[in-house]
Amino acid sequence: MSSAVESTPFDDHYSAQWAPRSGELFRRASEIIPGGAGSSARTVKFGWKPYPPFIAEGQGSRLRDVDGHEYIDYLLGLGPMILGHRHRVVTEAVVSAVREFGTCFGLPYELEIEAAQKVVDAVPSIEMVRFTNSGSEAVGSAVRISRAVTGRRIVIRFEGHYHGWQDTVYWSNHVDPAEAGPAEHPRPVRSGPGVPQELEDTLIVLTWNDPESFVRVMAERGHEVAAVITEPAVFNTGCILPEPGYLELLRSETQKCGALLIFDEVITGFRFARGGAQEWFGITPDITTLAKGLGGGFPVAAIGGSREVMSIIAEGRYSHSGTYNANVVACAAVSATMDLLAEPGLYERQRALGFRLAEGISKLAADAGFPARVEGLGTVFQLWFTEHPIHNWRDAERYSSEALFTRWYQEMLQRGVLFHPSHLENLFVSLVHTDADIDLTLEAAADSLSAMSRRT
Ligand code: PMP
Repeated sequence: MSSAVESTPFDDHYSAQWAPRSGELFRRASEIIPGGAGSSARTVKFGWKPYPPFIAEGQGSRLRDVDGHEYIDYLLGLGPMILGHRHRVVTEAVVSAVREFGTCFGLPYELEIEAAQKVVDAVPSIEMVRFTNSGSEAVGSAVRISRAVTGRRIVIRFEGHYHGWQDTVYWSNHVDPAEAGPAEHPRPVRSGPGVPQELEDTLIVLTWNDPESFVRVMAERGHEVAAVITEPAVFNTGCILPEPGYLELLRSETQKCGALLIFDEVITGFRFARGGAQEWFGITPDITTLAKGLGGGFPVAAIGGSREVMSIIAEGRYSHSGTYNANVVACAAVSATMDLLAEPGLYERQRALGFRLAEGISKLAADAGFPARVEGLGTVFQLWFTEHPIHNWRDAERYSSEALFTRWYQEMLQRGVLFHPSHLENLFVSLVHTDADIDLTLEAAADSLSAMSRRT
């Protein structure tokens, strides 16, 4: 554990009694894995204090840690475990495809067509699709394709959104307003060192859900804009939904100016509707990026779009390459996942379950006297500890209580419910969570909130 991190009674209890074995593993891991975990999102810096639980196994909606605790899992691997852990059908499909014909050929094969066809069938705007390996890769290609297709340079992105770690988009995520300047005219701010400052000239950063600034910028510079990239509902700042008409405005203004609209559906894809946010909100983007839910827990991502846009790859004018693109593990996982997601009534049922949980938590928080708002679309939501509506990053940064959320996370964890400790992440409900899971979670929430109110 870094000595810079202050110890709290929770940390001491966690280290000594709750998770001593995780502590041992964390110390071992930290010797050879920077931060003790394979992604910075799993480290102390991102809220896993005093260190993350180390996981022994996952099954369905449950996780078990190495200290013997079982959790109802609302972290879901940060999104991919849309079908829960070790779904029998997806696991079998992957294992038997590898046994039957291999992993990776450097050549095309039939299962790849099957997987691609199912994605084209599921996602309304996608006429052609290429598989790749991570959301960051898919976004990198989407941005470059938009520049190649339009012959323009500028990309518009929004504060508080996250589009992966590529230099072109790794800007202005959870930015300090003091550095970024006024919300009406934010300045692009690098999300970390190592990103060339020169790329600032290729970006315009705006405040989301603010039609005025978007219309103004498109009127002034729309002719220079290659693409507008957006999460269609923002799940990288808790959960923020688009104001009525906002996505429609992004669509109509980009069309008017000859710019492309990129929906980064890495989280929203397959989440609350099989066709993603574009199906749910009824908006057709030019390019879509997918990952997380796409592979039912196996690593795969995709970039899809209209036939017109994707023809730049088809005609060989743009080279989209990758040794592991469309490998057998990825395509078997996609194919099996797409079949499972097509079950009639599945999304309706799980959305209803998620809404029951979200509304239940909202009511319990209000009854316990906390200022709280729940925002979401059933299978993903966040509890904001504030009375103030959250429309964009500036609202979240200003109004949402991190301290209350941290306590909520700690109380719930000790009652067997796991989700991300940051108030800027969210809770994912899988397509295999059950009514019994929701009942148990609401019981834990009632106890947690009452423990919190006793301590305020
Ligand atoms: N876009 C969005 C909307 C994301 O949420 C993420 C990951 N959280 C990414 C892109 C990057 O995906 P990956 O971690 O697979 O590179």
